[in-house]
Amino acid sequence: MNIILLGPPGAGKGTQAQILVDGRDMIQLSTGDMLREARTSGTEMGLKVAAIMDAGELVTDEIVIGLIREKLQGPSGGGFIFDGFPRTLAQADALADLLADVGQGLDAVIEMRVNDDVLVERVVNRAAEAVAAGKTPRADDNAESMKTRLMEYYKKTSPLIGYYYAKGDLKSVDGLGTIDEVKSEIAAILG
Ligand code: AMP
Repeated sequence: MNIILLGPPGAGKGTQAQILVDGRDMIQLSTGDMLREARTSGTEMGLKVAAIMDAGELVTDEIVIGLIREKLQGPSGGGFIFDGFPRTLAQADALADLLADVGQGLDAVIEMRVNDDVLVERVVNRAAEAVAAGKTPRADDNAESMKTRLMEYYKKTSPLIGYYYAKGDLKSVDGLGTIDEVKSEIAAILG
């Protein structure tokens, strides 16, 4: 089973992806995590995207599609969870092609619905919690970058909701519920 978790930054995609990894042996493909890893290891690509990520803008389709292409050649476990990808229509089309190339398809696109005030609050809290735990918060988890991230989401990513609806793949869950409530809603969709 291959699914996309779709929603704005702070909607809880990563949290629910982790639950599916633990419970269903699925494989989380988070382009955000892959890009952060590339930065930490100091690869040429990592250095190239650092400033773009910190500002809250999207990196090029070419880079993220390349990252996903590589992962789809690897083990597929209980299926892939695409978390933070696709974020543009070009990425969505590329994903359909890449899945077809490995003889697979998409089973569901799960939209996590939230409201924008809660998102900003969650992301600012996520940074504060990281600091309290002695960790370095994400450089883009601040109110300023969050404004750009939300704008990028509404301009470039939210059209995917209509796109997947029209394809008949879209399901929605209430992302404002507790982690357990959202988990149950997703479980009901996946069966
Ligand atoms: P995330 O962890 O998913 O919030 O991603 C963090 C940042 O990585 C984003 O704000 C973008 O700069 C970049 N990024 C992650 N995934 C993508 C993607 N699919 N397309 C373009 N940029 C991305």
